[in-house]
Amino acid sequence: MSLRLEQIQNFKGRYPFQIWGLFFSEMWERFCFYGMRGMLVFFMIHQLDFTEQQANLQYAATQAFVYAFTFVGGLFADKILGFRKSLFWGGLLMIVGSIFLALDPHKFFFFGLAFIIIGTGFFKPNISTMIGDLYKEGDQRRDAGFSLFYAGINLGAFLGGYICVAIGKGYMFSSLIEEAYRWNVAFGLAAVGMVISLINFSFTQRKLGPIGLHPGHPQAIIKVKPFPKWAEYLVYGLTLLFVPLIQIMVSKTQYTDYFMWSIGPLTLVYLFYEISKLSSSERKKLWAALIFIVFSIFFWGIYEQSGGSLSIFAAKNLNDSLVGMRVDPNGVNNSAGAFFIILLAPLLGLLWLWLGKRKREPNTVIKFGLGFIFLGLGYYALFATRFFSQNGISSLNIFTLALLVITFGELCLSPIGLSIMTKLSPAKLQGIMMGIWFLAASYGQYLAGLIGEDMAKVKETSRPVESLLVYTEGYKTLGLYALIAGAVLIIISPLIRKLMQEVR
Ligand code: GLN
Repeated sequence: MSLRLEQIQNFKGRYPFQIWGLFFSEMWERFCFYGMRGMLVFFMIHQLDFTEQQANLQYAATQAFVYAFTFVGGLFADKILGFRKSLFWGGLLMIVGSIFLALDPHKFFFFGLAFIIIGTGFFKPNISTMIGDLYKEGDQRRDAGFSLFYAGINLGAFLGGYICVAIGKGYMFSSLIEEAYRWNVAFGLAAVGMVISLINFSFTQRKLGPIGLHPGHPQAIIKVKPFPKWAEYLVYGLTLLFVPLIQIMVSKTQYTDYFMWSIGPLTLVYLFYEISKLSSSERKKLWAALIFIVFSIFFWGIYEQSGGSLSIFAAKNLNDSLVGMRVDPNGVNNSAGAFFIILLAPLLGLLWLWLGKRKREPNTVIKFGLGFIFLGLGYYALFATRFFSQNGISSLNIFTLALLVITFGELCLSPIGLSIMTKLSPAKLQGIMMGIWFLAASYGQYLAGLIGEDMAKVKETSRPVESLLVYTEGYKTLGLYALIAGAVLIIISPLIRKLMQEVR
């Protein structure tokens, strides 16, 4: 007998048990995604002979497209496929893309990536939305659930981000895998991760009751007229038609600019059309959601220096000693954030629950504000690395401390952002709003690329002392912007809370 929604939402204890199934599916999907992402720049430079600049641009383009497609994935999920079918379809596309890359990564590079980009769009927003459905409106435990889910995201990111590129470069299992096949295995591993994710989800969905069923299903949460079956097949067909188009757009970065300048405004126009059909109270909540979304663009724009300027900084201006151990500073830059999140997310989740019980939990606006304040402090700590340097080479310890502070910021904003999207959106717009949340991340990636490019004014040949000064000066400015954004959010919080009404 399938569970009813009330049975699921009236769970006892801290977390609904279904969260673990979704946790593992998302963990493996992120393993696949971050595994692929971690290999991109290295593979382009060392295997495809791209210049560093070109590789960076191409990297930013793929990241922007990935998150932009979550909007499309969310839209089709809400209207036609439902969250479950979207997730399977997205997962399947990611598997196909990874298999192409595994077969011949040199030949199928952009073709395989195009599948992964579209697949992620169908998968990523919809699994997050299903987490929200496990909770009743007003349930205090929701933010803690998203914090736990976020730990799963980062466990996958940490493992995939490290293992795949390490196999490709020959740092792992080199005696087992012949050199000529290392990259094939590395990309193939992403496909294996995704297969595990989907098998796991096929078990999880049996315990999800009506959650994620397609619109028009007799047991679906929102009652609407069913779409004819051909509409579903049309979505699948259109998706496949888009693959070569995305392939072209990602391989020529000037198209990214055109795309970014059109997708945002078009999305807003569509959203305003949807908003016009809502009641005034629902409308106010969506305005509040939009304010969070706009702020998050700036957050990601600063935060996502990690893939770009911070990796150049790590390579050029940091020593390789972390609390006495000898480690690769770039490895630290890539994985320390995910590591801290796995460590801190459950603790912060428990802190929110503990404060919630005492009616002292800060509301979402304040958490968002805190997110920016921590981000700002973290960037000031990056600035401070200049005071711990010798001949332009600074302390990896201080750098890692900065990443820890930034991670606190991420935890106050990113999981909370997912959670608030599910609280502020009416049931029939949940997928789209989650998609728009990630679309903001896409603009953040794009903005981060522009900021990084501006900071990279120092020529590659300049001495470490000079580049240390230029980069840390840039980080100070970004730190200041983050602090200002945090202060603005806290100051306007009464206004946003008015729009949010009973939502906390
Ligand atoms: N790191 C998180 C993830 O992979 C957040 C990404 C984002 O929203 N920019 O899900």
